[in-house]
Amino acid sequence: MKCIRSVEDMQVLVKQLQREGKSVGFVPTMGFLHEGHQTLMQAARKENDVVISSIFVNPLQFGPNEDFETYPRDEARDLEVAQSEKVDFLFLPQVDEVYPNKLSITMKVNDRVDKLCGAKREGHFDGVATILTKLFNIIAPDRVYFGLKDAQQVAVVDALIQDYNFPIDLRPVPTVRESDGLAKSSRNVYLSTEERSEANALFQALEHGRNLVSEGETNKKRIIEEVSHFINKQTHGKIDYVDLLTYPHLEDLEEIQGQVILATAVQFNSARLIDNIIFDKSGSKITEVLSRQ
Ligand code: AMP
Repeated sequence: MKCIRSVEDMQVLVKQLQREGKSVGFVPTMGFLHEGHQTLMQAARKENDVVISSIFVNPLQFGPNEDFETYPRDEARDLEVAQSEKVDFLFLPQVDEVYPNKLSITMKVNDRVDKLCGAKREGHFDGVATILTKLFNIIAPDRVYFGLKDAQQVAVVDALIQDYNFPIDLRPVPTVRESDGLAKSSRNVYLSTEERSEANALFQALEHGRNLVSEGETNKKRIIEEVSHFINKQTHGKIDYVDLLTYPHLEDLEEIQGQVILATAVQFNSARLIDNIIFDKSGSKITEVLSRQ
């Protein structure tokens, strides 16, 4: 595995790969790699000649009171993990390499962001869309791999690729979980022992909501109430949101139809955790989430 730290070196490499006719799979990350990231790398490894991953904690997608400074970082360990997943090239630019000057033009996401995290984290998805536009231009991948743990991000990337004609195939990957159901996340290290033991209640609550749908419940309000009640009973965390929406358009619905997402964000003392599940009106889980838009 080769580490690349400058945009120019990456562009030279990409030109070379294009001359050689190699297909490129790209896995963007913010590092502190775990099995969720590894699963994306494995999917990319299977489908492409060359795998490029990036580690970049993007300041543009963090709000002023969020955890940019304290976001967990461990480059030495990340190099070992990426190497073990047979990543060919790891792009590790510094902030001033990516943003040498104040940007004159940034992306503004208009759809799919007025709900869930988009509604709570102002400007977050604008920052995501801006960095991904840069990375997609620099790396020009054939396929990009994103985790459904961040399902709203997948929805936004889907719109970005369509609206801006990136010739890129978006490959969403199902959420990787701990054995008790907690979605793997770099931020889980912030949880206290007590919080960690409660945190799997997010997934259990979402599954409870999905079971209600399997049993015939169609009333959105009732499902949200049940899920919220479950989380409040089982954790000391503060619910940021629980919502049930269409996916990937993230629109309100009266009754469950088509493909829906049940999602939650819960603020613990030092970590805000998110989770979601995507299913249809019979309560069956869906993994091919972008095939029925
Ligand atoms: P991050 O480093 O948190 O920005 O995540 C980089 C990529 O890994 C994103 O596409 C995430 O959705 C994905 N990812 C993070 N956690 C998981 C997980 N538990 N399962 C699957 N993908 C994940």
